Amino acid sequence: MIFLDNASTTSPCGDIGKILDIACRSYYNPSALYGEALKVKNMLEDARKEIANLLGADKSEIYFTSCATESNNWAYEKGIKNKKGNIVVSASEHASGYESAMAQKSKGVDVRFAALNKDGSIDEDDLFDKIDENTCFVSVIHCSNETGTLNDIASIVKKIRSVNPKIVIHSDGVQAFLKYDYNIKELGVDLYSISAHKIGGLKGIGALFIKKGLNIAPLIVGGGQEFGARSGTENVAGILSFAQAAKHFKQNYDRDMIIKMRKYMISELMPLNVKINGNQKAESILSVTIPGIKAEILQHMLSDKGVLIGLGSACSSRSRNNRVLSAIGLDQKEIEGSIRISFGIENDMKQIIAATDILKTEINDLRGNMR
Ligand code: PLP
Repeated sequence: MIFLDNASTTSPCGDIGKILDIACRSYYNPSALYGEALKVKNMLEDARKEIANLLGADKSEIYFTSCATESNNWAYEKGIKNKKGNIVVSASEHASGYESAMAQKSKGVDVRFAALNKDGSIDEDDLFDKIDENTCFVSVIHCSNETGTLNDIASIVKKIRSVNPKIVIHSDGVQAFLKYDYNIKELGVDLYSISAHKIGGLKGIGALFIKKGLNIAPLIVGGGQEFGARSGTENVAGILSFAQAAKHFKQNYDRDMIIKMRKYMISELMPLNVKINGNQKAESILSVTIPGIKAEILQHMLSDKGVLIGLGSACSSRSRNNRVLSAIGLDQKEIEGSIRISFGIENDMKQIIAATDILKTEINDLRGNMR
């Protein structure tokens, strides 16, 4: 199989066996007070330190959650402190951000969606038209999971702060974490969501960065784990895998190679009269609209040939609608003819050349059959 759906998930990296072994043999509850349990607690704290260092955060600013979906839910549910104010959210949020915003709307919060530019980036004129003195929360995704377009969060945050310094600013960093060189302090956000399984960690573990000094109430209450902010006995294997994967990903993510693979695929596909969605500078994600085909059928044909690709986000693939592609101007027919190819650290040029050949053949076959 040539796996080109790395934005949906990635294969677990490193010594997962060792981690599972630790979780099985050192199964003690990290909150217990005997020595064996304290050793587990220390391992968790080392993992927190690793993630914090890679993000440029303090270890006390990292709160482990069950996934980035939970991190996003938490950010919206508790980061919006004044439910009488308004919130401004980019139109390119992942389903977990969008649905969190809609949940707030159903509770009576004034939710304003900021439009996108044709390249998938946030339309800053529209964003700042919508922000006013009653805005209490803004969320702008860092890297789009649909188009790979990167928003300039540092610059957006600076501008928001100059308009209204009290606004709580969140960004979904799931597709950006470790793929770009940045430091959370430079971004300037208050809240930032990340997920392990997008960078080679196990599924079911994420984190929310909460800037020191910002007090947000817990979403999940109980035994007071995670400094009292997120209760529930810790997912030891998940957390250890997150830290190990993050370290491995940082060392092995070859950005130049990712760009080279993407460029090669684009150059080979362009003669087939396809349209590339998103920004020229997008890197690990390639969204392509292929006129005259149904992407779902193409996906099946490719899978039969051993090439796995996505159709927009894995979460939105259950519904034919694609909110984000629609927001950048694609019509329904174009959306149904759009695929998402996403590159990862396990891919190499040999795979990309082979996958591109198969892709071109299948597109031509499908177009022939649909004529
Ligand atoms: N945010 C973005 C941008 C994503 O791509 C995803 C996963 O597809 C998520 C959030 C949700 O992450 P998780 O699977 O950890 O809940």
